[in-house]
Amino acid sequence: MSGTAQSVWNNCLEFIKDNIQPQAYKTWFEPIVAVKLTDKALSIQVPSKFFYEWLEEHYVKILKVALTKELGDKAKLVYIIRMENTYGNKQPFTEKIPSSNRGALKSQDIDVPLNNKSPELRNPFVIPGIRNVKIESQLNPNYSFENFLEGDSNRLARSAGLAVASKPGGTSFNPLLIFGGVGLGKTHLAHAIGVDIKDKYPEKTVLYISAEKFTQQYIDSVKKNNRNDFIHFYQLIDVLIIDDVQFLSGKTGTQDVFFHIFNHLHQNGKQVVLTSDKAPVDMQDIEQRLLSRFKWGLSAELQNPDFETRVSILKNKLYRDGVDMPEDIIEYVAKNIKSNVRELEGAIISLIAQSSFNKKEITLELARVIVEKFVKNTKREVSIDYIQKVVSDYFQMDIDTLQSKTRKRHIVQARQLAMFFAKKFTKASLASIGSQIGKRDHATVLHACKTVDNLSSTDKQFRKYVEDISKKLSV
Ligand code: ADP
Ligand code: MG
Repeated sequence: MSGTAQSVWNNCLEFIKDNIQPQAYKTWFEPIVAVKLTDKALSIQVPSKFFYEWLEEHYVKILKVALTKELGDKAKLVYIIRMENTYGNKQPFTEKIPSSNRGALKSQDIDVPLNNKSPELRNPFVIPGIRNVKIESQLNPNYSFENFLEGDSNRLARSAGLAVASKPGGTSFNPLLIFGGVGLGKTHLAHAIGVDIKDKYPEKTVLYISAEKFTQQYIDSVKKNNRNDFIHFYQLIDVLIIDDVQFLSGKTGTQDVFFHIFNHLHQNGKQVVLTSDKAPVDMQDIEQRLLSRFKWGLSAELQNPDFETRVSILKNKLYRDGVDMPEDIIEYVAKNIKSNVRELEGAIISLIAQSSFNKKEITLELARVIVEKFVKNTKREVSIDYIQKVVSDYFQMDIDTLQSKTRKRHIVQARQLAMFFAKKFTKASLASIGSQIGKRDHATVLHACKTVDNLSSTDKQFRKYVEDISKKLSV
């Protein structure tokens, strides 16, 4: 009855796929790689320790059923967790967990070798009594979890945030990296985590700081010759929240000092929360050793909220401001402002302001005027769907063909062009572009972008394609 690891796993997947939500399947099962099958033990490789914990927490039953169906009662599941290792050790970290042994599993500590050989930071002096210095958290209490409305677009990030807040430093989401485009709630969520921790653990030192301010402080400390004090201060913090880490790109001095602070905090079980406008794979001019640390924990994306979430965000905001607004107007605003939450809030605030300044009633007509202004002002971002449509129209094929697995040259080229323009005209990550254009991975998208660059400088016909499509996309 048994086969190769791959075929056994494929059968399990088929069963699992039928029994869980498609989105969950995509998120939690597609990234798994079956590695080997020995006796009745199937080894699967998962991308991170977080992944393993999530599977065990939510899918252990179905995994067990699927595996038992395939391999019988003695079936075992072995997780292999691939760890990034910056010290040249290419061995993946392996953790063997018998999935039938559920009791022992919960309490089992996975000793992930994160810290071995990390450069030890030597502090030449200790400031006596510094523990008594009260560190202001710099948190905004309005940015709470309560006010952070949940939707499909933010569910993973929000629940990871809640998990971190209830056990700072005690989950594998360390660091927790929240990424996403402007106005999607990164800063809000980062504060919410801090606010919640302060609430639950008043004795913990929490600090929120933007990467920009952090950089400024560091530069000052170098000027004033007290770099060590700077480092020391940050090493005292229990929960360090750094907003917009993309700001560190190209700033090697600050990256270096942050690297040391990060290591110290992490080794001591302190929590680090980061936000960024890009996923780690898309970050540029950030040192590799730092990037690989960003990936140690969990990277969770904030996406554009869907219509329902936009409506509930608006309603919550109006409720908090004590403003009544007819349902159809709320829906009108939510339907027409899709770019991000900040814009959405901006539109509703200006609607309220207009109506109260001019003593006008809030009508659909007024809403139309204001929404129109907003939509005009924000340069319309083309969507990946739109790009695929324009490119496939241009080559007179349909989108399914563009996305298909075929290797026919003109189709491959069309697909590569779509990827290239998606990278150029949207803020989407390579990975998300790939998944939207025919379910490819980020490396494929990267390759496509390079190919288009090369071809447009060597091939005249191809350059014309690029120019034509560019024009169509930028009207
Ligand atoms: P970013 O840091 O990603 O640019 P912000 O955190 O500043 O975005 O969010 C922009 C605005 O949108 C803030 O006023 C924030 O409170 C609001 N916001 C974002 N997401 C949500 C949400 N899920 N629920 C309620 N308000 C949100
Ligand atoms: Mg922000």
